[in-house]
Amino acid sequence: MTTQTFKKIPYGRQWVGREEIRAVTEVLKSDFLTQGAKVPEFERALARKVGSDYAVAVANGTAALHLAAIALELKPGDEVITTPISFLATSNAIIYAGARPVFGDIDPETQCIDPRNIESKITKRTRAIFVTDFAGHPADMAVIYDIAGKHKLKIVEDAAHALGSVCGGSRVGSCRYADMTIFSFHPVKHITTGEGGAITTNDSQLREKLRELRTHGVTRDPQKLLNKKQGGWYYEMQSLGFNYRLTDIQAAIGIEQLKKSGRFIERRREIAKKYTRAFSDLPGILTPVERSNMKHVYHLYVIRLQGKFAGKRQIFFEQLHKRGIGAQVHYIPIPEQPYYRSLGYTAEDCPNARSYYASAVSLPMYPGLTNTEVHSIIKAVKDICHRIFR
Ligand SMILES: *Cc1c(COP(=O)(O)O)cnc(C)c1O
Repeated sequence: MTTQTFKKIPYGRQWVGREEIRAVTEVLKSDFLTQGAKVPEFERALARKVGSDYAVAVANGTAALHLAAIALELKPGDEVITTPISFLATSNAIIYAGARPVFGDIDPETQCIDPRNIESKITKRTRAIFVTDFAGHPADMAVIYDIAGKHKLKIVEDAAHALGSVCGGSRVGSCRYADMTIFSFHPVKHITTGEGGAITTNDSQLREKLRELRTHGVTRDPQKLLNKKQGGWYYEMQSLGFNYRLTDIQAAIGIEQLKKSGRFIERRREIAKKYTRAFSDLPGILTPVERSNMKHVYHLYVIRLQGKFAGKRQIFFEQLHKRGIGAQVHYIPIPEQPYYRSLGYTAEDCPNARSYYASAVSLPMYPGLTNTEVHSIIKAVKDICHRIFR
Protein backbone atom coordinates (compact mmCIF):
# COMPACT_ATOMS: atom_id res chain seq x y z
CA MET A 1 0.00 0.00 0.00
CA THR A 2 1.29 3.41 -0.83
CA THR A 3 0.66 6.43 1.33
CA GLN A 4 0.29 9.84 -0.17
CA THR A 5 3.33 11.84 0.80
CA PHE A 6 2.85 15.00 -1.28
CA LYS A 7 0.86 17.88 0.07
CA LYS A 8 -2.39 18.76 -1.61
CA ILE A 9 -3.02 22.28 -2.84
CA PRO A 10 -6.09 23.32 -0.81
CA TYR A 11 -9.03 25.18 -2.39
CA GLY A 12 -8.45 28.14 -0.08
CA ARG A 13 -6.10 29.31 2.62
CA GLN A 14 -5.09 32.39 4.60
CA TRP A 15 -2.14 34.69 4.00
CA VAL A 16 -0.65 35.82 7.30
CA GLY A 17 2.63 37.70 7.62
CA ARG A 18 4.92 39.12 10.25
CA GLU A 19 2.73 42.22 10.64
CA GLU A 20 -0.12 40.09 12.05
CA ILE A 21 2.27 38.20 14.32
CA ARG A 22 3.68 41.46 15.68
CA ALA A 23 0.19 42.92 16.21
CA VAL A 24 -0.97 39.85 18.12
CA THR A 25 2.13 39.91 20.31
CA GLU A 26 1.45 43.53 21.20
CA VAL A 27 -2.10 42.79 22.27
CA LEU A 28 -0.94 39.81 24.33
CA LYS A 29 1.42 42.12 26.22
CA SER A 30 -1.27 44.78 26.73
CA ASP A 31 -3.98 45.18 29.38
CA PHE A 32 -6.90 44.01 27.26
CA LEU A 33 -7.17 40.72 25.39
CA THR A 34 -10.82 41.46 24.75
CA GLN A 35 -13.13 44.51 25.06
CA GLY A 36 -10.18 46.82 24.53
CA ALA A 37 -9.39 49.43 21.88
CA LYS A 38 -8.49 47.09 18.99
CA VAL A 39 -12.07 46.04 18.27
CA PRO A 40 -13.39 49.59 17.68
CA GLU A 41 -10.23 50.36 15.68
CA PHE A 42 -10.91 47.36 13.46
CA GLU A 43 -14.58 48.36 13.13
CA ARG A 44 -13.65 51.87 12.00
CA ALA A 45 -11.13 50.53 9.50
CA LEU A 46 -13.64 48.07 8.07
CA ALA A 47 -16.39 50.71 7.78
CA ARG A 48 -13.92 53.01 6.01
CA LYS A 49 -12.84 50.21 3.65
CA VAL A 50 -16.37 49.32 2.54
CA GLY A 51 -17.87 52.81 2.80
CA SER A 52 -20.48 52.22 5.52
CA ASP A 53 -21.26 54.44 8.49
CA TYR A 54 -20.85 51.61 10.99
CA ALA A 55 -19.36 48.16 11.44
CA VAL A 56 -20.03 45.82 14.35
CA ALA A 57 -17.45 43.05 14.80
CA VAL A 58 -18.62 39.68 16.06
CA ALA A 59 -17.32 36.17 16.74
CA ASN A 60 -17.91 34.77 13.23
CA GLY A 61 -19.98 35.25 10.08
CA THR A 62 -22.73 32.97 11.35
CA ALA A 63 -23.10 35.09 14.50
CA ALA A 64 -23.27 38.15 12.21
CA LEU A 65 -26.17 36.59 10.29
CA HIS A 66 -27.86 35.49 13.51
CA LEU A 67 -27.70 38.99 15.01
CA ALA A 68 -28.85 40.57 11.74
CA ALA A 69 -31.89 38.26 11.75
CA ILE A 70 -32.70 39.11 15.36
CA ALA A 71 -32.13 42.83 14.87
CA LEU A 72 -34.84 42.73 12.17
CA GLU A 73 -37.18 41.33 14.85
CA LEU A 74 -38.17 38.38 12.70
CA LYS A 75 -40.73 36.21 14.42
CA PRO A 76 -42.48 32.86 13.95
CA GLY A 77 -44.74 32.98 10.94
CA ASP A 78 -42.51 35.44 9.09
CA GLU A 79 -41.02 34.40 5.77
CA VAL A 80 -37.60 35.37 4.46
CA ILE A 81 -36.68 34.81 0.83
CA THR A 82 -33.18 33.48 0.36
CA THR A 83 -30.91 31.55 -1.99
CA PRO A 84 -30.45 27.77 -2.14
CA ILE A 85 -26.80 28.18 -3.24
CA SER A 86 -24.94 29.54 -0.23
CA PHE A 87 -23.23 28.30 2.86
CA LEU A 88 -25.74 26.77 5.29
CA ALA A 89 -25.45 29.66 7.74
CA THR A 90 -27.37 32.08 5.48
CA SER A 91 -30.66 30.25 5.82
CA ASN A 92 -29.93 28.73 9.24
CA ALA A 93 -29.87 32.27 10.67
CA ILE A 94 -33.44 32.79 9.49
CA ILE A 95 -34.48 29.65 11.36
CA TYR A 96 -32.53 30.70 14.50
CA ALA A 97 -34.74 33.80 14.60
CA GLY A 98 -37.87 31.63 14.36
CA ALA A 99 -38.78 32.64 10.81
CA ARG A 100 -39.14 30.48 7.72
CA PRO A 101 -36.69 30.53 4.81
CA VAL A 102 -38.28 30.47 1.35
CA PHE A 103 -35.85 29.54 -1.40
CA GLY A 104 -35.86 31.40 -4.71
CA ASP A 105 -33.92 29.87 -7.60
CA ILE A 106 -30.60 31.29 -8.81
CA ASP A 107 -29.55 33.10 -11.95
CA PRO A 108 -27.68 30.41 -13.92
CA GLU A 109 -25.03 32.91 -14.99
CA THR A 110 -23.94 34.32 -11.60
CA GLN A 111 -25.37 31.70 -9.23
CA CYS A 112 -26.82 34.53 -7.13
CA ILE A 113 -30.56 34.59 -6.43
CA ASP A 114 -32.55 35.72 -9.48
CA PRO A 115 -34.64 38.79 -8.58
CA ARG A 116 -37.56 37.39 -10.59
CA ASN A 117 -37.60 34.40 -8.24
CA ILE A 118 -37.75 36.76 -5.30
CA GLU A 119 -40.76 38.59 -6.64
CA SER A 120 -42.64 35.37 -7.40
CA LYS A 121 -42.15 34.14 -3.81
CA ILE A 122 -43.44 37.23 -2.00
CA THR A 123 -46.51 36.65 0.20
CA LYS A 124 -48.24 38.65 2.94
CA ARG A 125 -45.87 37.00 5.42
CA THR A 126 -42.63 37.99 3.67
CA ARG A 127 -40.52 40.28 5.84
CA ALA A 128 -37.00 40.21 4.43
CA ILE A 129 -34.61 39.01 1.76
CA PHE A 130 -31.26 37.36 2.59
CA VAL A 131 -29.02 37.56 -0.48
CA THR A 132 -25.59 35.99 -1.01
CA ASP A 133 -22.96 37.50 -3.31
CA PHE A 134 -21.95 34.08 -4.52
CA ALA A 135 -18.24 33.37 -5.02
CA GLY A 136 -17.53 37.11 -4.79
CA HIS A 137 -19.81 38.32 -7.60
CA PRO A 138 -22.51 40.69 -6.34
CA ALA A 139 -26.15 39.72 -6.64
CA ASP A 140 -28.44 41.97 -8.69
CA MET A 141 -28.65 44.33 -5.72
CA ALA A 142 -30.16 47.38 -7.41
CA VAL A 143 -33.08 45.33 -8.75
CA ILE A 144 -33.50 43.54 -5.41
CA TYR A 145 -33.46 46.90 -3.63
CA ASP A 146 -36.33 48.14 -5.81
CA ILE A 147 -38.36 45.00 -5.16
CA ALA A 148 -37.75 45.34 -1.41
CA GLY A 149 -38.80 48.99 -1.49
CA LYS A 150 -42.02 48.17 -3.33
CA HIS A 151 -42.98 45.47 -0.81
CA LYS A 152 -41.46 47.05 2.33
CA LEU A 153 -38.98 44.24 2.89
CA LYS A 154 -35.62 44.40 4.66
CA ILE A 155 -32.41 43.26 2.95
CA VAL A 156 -29.52 41.40 4.56
CA GLU A 157 -26.62 40.93 2.15
CA ASP A 158 -24.38 37.96 2.94
CA ALA A 159 -21.05 39.24 1.63
CA ALA A 160 -18.93 36.55 3.29
CA HIS A 161 -17.48 35.97 -0.22
CA ALA A 162 -17.47 39.56 -1.36
CA LEU A 163 -15.25 41.91 0.65
CA GLY A 164 -13.84 44.37 -1.91
CA SER A 165 -16.54 43.68 -4.48
CA VAL A 166 -18.37 46.50 -6.27
CA CYS A 167 -21.97 46.51 -7.44
CA GLY A 168 -23.11 49.18 -9.91
CA GLY A 169 -20.62 51.74 -8.59
CA SER A 170 -21.26 51.01 -4.89
CA ARG A 171 -18.88 49.08 -2.71
CA VAL A 172 -20.32 45.87 -1.26
CA GLY A 173 -20.71 46.56 2.44
CA SER A 174 -21.59 50.23 1.93
CA CYS A 175 -25.24 49.20 2.36
CA ARG A 176 -26.34 51.28 -0.60
CA TYR A 177 -28.69 48.39 -1.42
CA ALA A 178 -28.99 46.62 1.94
CA ASP A 179 -30.06 47.30 5.52
CA MET A 180 -27.17 45.22 6.78
CA THR A 181 -24.26 43.47 5.10
CA ILE A 182 -22.39 40.66 6.81
CA PHE A 183 -18.80 39.49 6.43
CA SER A 184 -16.86 36.44 7.61
CA PHE A 185 -13.19 36.36 8.51
CA HIS A 186 -12.72 32.60 8.44
CA PRO A 187 -9.26 31.71 7.01
CA VAL A 188 -10.61 30.83 3.54
CA LYS A 189 -12.29 34.25 3.15
CA HIS A 190 -10.70 37.44 1.78
CA ILE A 191 -9.26 38.48 5.12
CA THR A 192 -9.03 36.46 8.30
CA THR A 193 -9.06 36.90 12.06
CA GLY A 194 -8.98 33.13 12.70
CA GLU A 195 -12.69 33.09 13.34
CA GLY A 196 -14.54 36.37 13.04
CA GLY A 197 -17.28 38.32 11.37
CA ALA A 198 -18.92 41.71 11.12
CA ILE A 199 -22.11 43.48 10.19
CA THR A 200 -22.02 46.84 8.40
CA THR A 201 -24.96 49.26 8.35
CA ASN A 202 -25.82 52.92 7.94
CA ASP A 203 -28.66 52.71 10.45
CA SER A 204 -27.58 53.93 13.88
CA GLN A 205 -30.46 52.16 15.62
CA LEU A 206 -29.56 48.82 14.06
CA ARG A 207 -25.98 49.41 15.05
CA GLU A 208 -26.94 50.00 18.70
CA LYS A 209 -29.15 46.92 18.67
CA LEU A 210 -26.35 44.76 17.22
CA ARG A 211 -23.81 46.04 19.72
CA GLU A 212 -26.16 45.21 22.57
CA LEU A 213 -27.04 41.76 21.22
CA ARG A 214 -23.41 40.71 20.84
CA THR A 215 -22.87 41.22 24.55
CA HIS A 216 -25.82 39.60 26.35
CA GLY A 217 -28.35 42.33 25.49
CA VAL A 218 -26.72 44.46 28.14
CA THR A 219 -26.37 48.24 28.10
CA ARG A 220 -24.61 50.70 30.39
CA ASP A 221 -25.46 53.72 28.24
CA PRO A 222 -27.15 56.28 30.60
CA GLN A 223 -29.28 57.54 27.70
CA LYS A 224 -30.79 54.11 27.19
CA LEU A 225 -31.36 52.90 30.75
CA LEU A 226 -35.01 52.09 31.46
CA ASN A 227 -34.65 52.46 35.24
CA LYS A 228 -32.81 54.94 37.38
CA LYS A 229 -29.06 54.33 37.56
CA GLN A 230 -28.35 52.80 40.97
CA GLY A 231 -24.61 53.48 40.95
CA GLY A 232 -21.45 53.29 38.91
CA TRP A 233 -21.77 49.52 38.54
CA TYR A 234 -25.24 49.69 37.08
CA TYR A 235 -26.19 47.94 33.84
CA GLU A 236 -29.40 46.65 32.36
CA MET A 237 -30.21 43.61 30.29
CA GLN A 238 -32.89 44.81 27.93
CA SER A 239 -33.05 41.94 25.47
CA LEU A 240 -31.87 38.34 25.21
CA GLY A 241 -28.39 38.64 23.72
CA PHE A 242 -25.34 36.43 23.39
CA ASN A 243 -21.61 36.47 23.89
CA TYR A 244 -20.72 36.97 20.24
CA ARG A 245 -17.76 39.29 20.80
CA LEU A 246 -14.60 39.34 18.73
CA THR A 247 -11.41 39.50 20.85
CA ASP A 248 -8.79 42.23 20.60
CA ILE A 249 -6.27 39.56 19.60
CA GLN A 250 -8.44 38.80 16.57
CA ALA A 251 -9.17 42.45 15.82
CA ALA A 252 -5.43 43.17 15.74
CA ILE A 253 -5.02 40.50 13.04
CA GLY A 254 -7.97 41.99 11.17
CA ILE A 255 -6.49 45.49 11.15
CA GLU A 256 -3.32 44.21 9.48
CA GLN A 257 -5.26 42.00 7.07
CA LEU A 258 -7.46 44.90 5.95
CA LYS A 259 -4.35 46.87 4.96
CA LYS A 260 -3.43 44.01 2.61
CA SER A 261 -6.90 43.24 1.30
CA GLY A 262 -6.51 45.27 -1.90
CA ARG A 263 -3.43 43.28 -2.87
CA PHE A 264 -5.11 39.99 -1.93
CA ILE A 265 -8.00 40.77 -4.26
CA GLU A 266 -5.76 41.85 -7.12
CA ARG A 267 -3.91 38.54 -6.87
CA ARG A 268 -7.17 36.59 -6.86
CA ARG A 269 -8.30 38.43 -9.99
CA GLU A 270 -4.95 37.76 -11.65
CA ILE A 271 -5.24 34.02 -10.95
CA ALA A 272 -8.84 34.03 -12.24
CA LYS A 273 -7.66 35.66 -15.46
CA LYS A 274 -5.01 32.96 -15.92
CA TYR A 275 -7.57 30.18 -15.38
CA THR A 276 -10.18 31.74 -17.65
CA ARG A 277 -7.68 32.33 -20.44
CA ALA A 278 -6.29 28.78 -20.17
CA PHE A 279 -9.74 27.13 -20.23
CA SER A 280 -11.12 29.20 -23.09
CA ASP A 281 -10.20 26.45 -25.58
CA LEU A 282 -11.95 23.72 -23.59
CA PRO A 283 -15.58 23.86 -24.75
CA GLY A 284 -16.68 21.44 -21.99
CA ILE A 285 -15.54 23.86 -19.29
CA LEU A 286 -17.69 26.86 -18.49
CA THR A 287 -15.81 29.63 -16.65
CA PRO A 288 -17.22 32.34 -14.32
CA VAL A 289 -18.66 35.55 -15.72
CA GLU A 290 -18.18 39.08 -14.48
CA ARG A 291 -21.02 41.44 -15.40
CA SER A 292 -20.02 44.81 -16.81
CA ASN A 293 -21.17 46.94 -13.87
CA MET A 294 -19.83 44.55 -11.21
CA LYS A 295 -16.49 43.58 -9.71
CA HIS A 296 -15.91 39.89 -9.05
CA VAL A 297 -13.46 39.30 -6.19
CA TYR A 298 -13.21 35.52 -6.64
CA HIS A 299 -13.55 34.11 -3.16
CA LEU A 300 -14.19 31.00 -5.26
CA TYR A 301 -13.30 30.12 -8.82
CA VAL A 302 -16.02 27.73 -9.94
CA ILE A 303 -15.93 25.93 -13.28
CA ARG A 304 -18.85 23.97 -14.63
CA LEU A 305 -18.71 20.79 -16.67
CA GLN A 306 -21.00 21.02 -19.67
CA GLY A 307 -21.58 19.51 -23.12
CA LYS A 308 -19.58 16.30 -23.49
CA PHE A 309 -18.20 16.69 -19.95
CA ALA A 310 -21.66 16.88 -18.38
CA GLY A 311 -22.24 14.16 -15.80
CA LYS A 312 -18.51 13.62 -15.26
CA ARG A 313 -18.08 15.78 -12.21
CA GLN A 314 -17.26 12.95 -9.81
CA ILE A 315 -14.49 11.53 -12.02
CA PHE A 316 -13.16 15.02 -12.65
CA PHE A 317 -13.11 15.77 -8.92
CA GLU A 318 -11.36 12.49 -8.08
CA GLN A 319 -8.80 12.96 -10.85
CA LEU A 320 -7.95 16.42 -9.51
CA HIS A 321 -7.46 15.04 -6.01
CA LYS A 322 -5.29 12.22 -7.39
CA ARG A 323 -3.09 14.93 -8.87
CA GLY A 324 -2.78 16.71 -5.52
CA ILE A 325 -5.39 19.38 -6.19
CA GLY A 326 -7.85 19.91 -3.35
CA ALA A 327 -10.86 20.87 -5.46
CA GLN A 328 -14.16 21.38 -3.66
CA VAL A 329 -17.85 21.75 -4.46
CA HIS A 330 -19.74 24.86 -3.33
CA TYR A 331 -22.53 24.15 -2.54
CA ILE A 332 -25.05 21.36 -2.18
CA PRO A 333 -28.43 23.13 -2.52
CA ILE A 334 -29.47 23.91 1.07
CA PRO A 335 -33.07 22.63 0.74
CA GLU A 336 -31.66 19.19 -0.16
CA GLN A 337 -29.86 18.83 3.18
CA PRO A 338 -31.44 16.15 5.40
CA TYR A 339 -32.38 18.70 8.07
CA TYR A 340 -34.15 20.90 5.53
CA ARG A 341 -35.78 17.83 3.98
CA SER A 342 -37.11 16.96 7.43
CA LEU A 343 -38.77 20.38 7.51
CA GLY A 344 -40.46 19.59 4.20
CA TYR A 345 -38.09 21.44 1.84
CA THR A 346 -36.97 20.24 -1.56
CA ALA A 347 -34.97 21.86 -4.35
CA GLU A 348 -37.46 20.70 -6.97
CA ASP A 349 -38.60 24.25 -7.62
CA CYS A 350 -34.97 25.41 -7.93
CA PRO A 351 -33.89 23.65 -11.15
CA ASN A 352 -31.06 26.11 -11.81
CA ALA A 353 -29.58 25.43 -8.37
CA ARG A 354 -29.80 21.71 -9.01
CA SER A 355 -28.16 21.74 -12.41
CA TYR A 356 -25.50 24.14 -11.16
CA TYR A 357 -24.70 21.81 -8.27
CA ALA A 358 -24.44 18.78 -10.56
CA SER A 359 -21.80 20.46 -12.71
CA ALA A 360 -19.74 22.66 -10.36
CA VAL A 361 -16.13 22.30 -9.22
CA SER A 362 -14.23 24.95 -7.23
CA LEU A 363 -10.55 25.10 -8.19
CA PRO A 364 -7.94 26.32 -5.67
CA MET A 365 -8.14 30.10 -5.27
CA TYR A 366 -6.21 32.15 -2.72
CA PRO A 367 -3.63 34.93 -2.93
CA GLY A 368 -0.72 32.75 -1.80
CA LEU A 369 -1.14 30.40 -4.76
CA THR A 370 2.08 30.60 -6.79
CA ASN A 371 2.20 30.86 -10.58
CA THR A 372 3.85 27.42 -10.63
CA GLU A 373 0.89 26.01 -8.70
CA VAL A 374 -1.59 27.80 -10.97
CA HIS A 375 0.10 26.29 -14.01
CA SER A 376 0.13 22.81 -12.51
CA ILE A 377 -3.61 23.15 -11.81
CA ILE A 378 -4.26 24.30 -15.38
CA LYS A 379 -2.15 21.43 -16.69
CA ALA A 380 -4.06 18.92 -14.56
CA VAL A 381 -7.43 20.21 -15.80
CA LYS A 382 -6.30 20.03 -19.42
CA ASP A 383 -4.79 16.59 -18.89
CA ILE A 384 -8.06 15.26 -17.44
CA CYS A 385 -10.06 16.82 -20.27
CA HIS A 386 -7.80 15.47 -23.00
CA ARG A 387 -6.78 12.06 -21.67
CA ILE A 388 -9.50 10.90 -19.29
CA PHE A 389 -12.47 12.40 -21.13
CA ARG A 390 -11.11 11.72 -24.60
C1 LIG B 1 -18.27 31.48 5.49
C2 LIG B 1 -19.66 31.86 5.24
C3 LIG B 1 -20.56 32.16 6.26
C4 LIG B 1 -20.28 31.89 7.71
O1 LIG B 1 -19.16 32.46 8.19
P1 LIG B 1 -18.40 31.86 9.48
O2 LIG B 1 -17.46 32.95 9.83
O3 LIG B 1 -17.72 30.61 9.02
O4 LIG B 1 -19.42 31.60 10.53
C5 LIG B 1 -21.82 32.62 5.93
N1 LIG B 1 -22.19 32.76 4.64
C6 LIG B 1 -21.38 32.45 3.63
C7 LIG B 1 -21.85 32.65 2.23
C8 LIG B 1 -20.09 31.98 3.89
O5 LIG B 1 -19.30 31.65 2.87
